[in-house]
Amino acid sequence: MKPLFLGSHPALDFLNTRPTPRGAPIELVGDGTSFAAWLDDARLLPATTASALKRRFGAAALDEAAAEARDLREWARDWIARWRDAPGGAYKTELRRLNQLMARARCYPELVITKDAGFQLTDRWRIDSADELIAVVAAQIASLVATEEPALVKRCAGPGCTLWFVDRTKAHSRLFCSATVCGNRAKVAAFRERQRGGGD
Ligand SMILES: [Zn+2]
Repeated sequence: MKPLFLGSHPALDFLNTRPTPRGAPIELVGDGTSFAAWLDDARLLPATTASALKRRFGAAALDEAAAEARDLREWARDWIARWRDAPGGAYKTELRRLNQLMARARCYPELVITKDAGFQLTDRWRIDSADELIAVVAAQIASLVATEEPALVKRCAGPGCTLWFVDRTKAHSRLFCSATVCGNRAKVAAFRERQRGGGD
């Protein structure tokens, strides 16, 4: 199974790298190679590629970085759920953890040309070792809680689905990770329910 990018935010796409499509969890960043590929697919390190990361840092160091990222992911899943329900909390310990991880790598500003020939000032990461990669993921989690509306950070309403997303619909009515998967499944279930003469 390939990682899904339907969370509308990289932090949630990262949480979604352990989906439960048939009830049992599937690990999608189980080693350094898949973690590097995820960073590449998520375009969080635009100046490099997964294979370049592997050549530079070696498989063993990337494996360690992936293990640390998985720990961060499970911790973040729990914290994001708590933050969403109680956004006014102080969360000092959580902030300290994220800030420590972000401080591992250096970030510098870069002026780039956009698709429509305008300028944009962006942050670039300077990654000198594999253990600094986690700063990039931690920064996405920090960006989520700093910029998104807690009530719009949602978990899919599909039965048994554990995927997260930011609801960017105008009406704030997004219920499912994917209309074609969980949305359809819910429609079929409702249809069967009506056919059985159930429903209310
Ligand atoms: Zn779903």
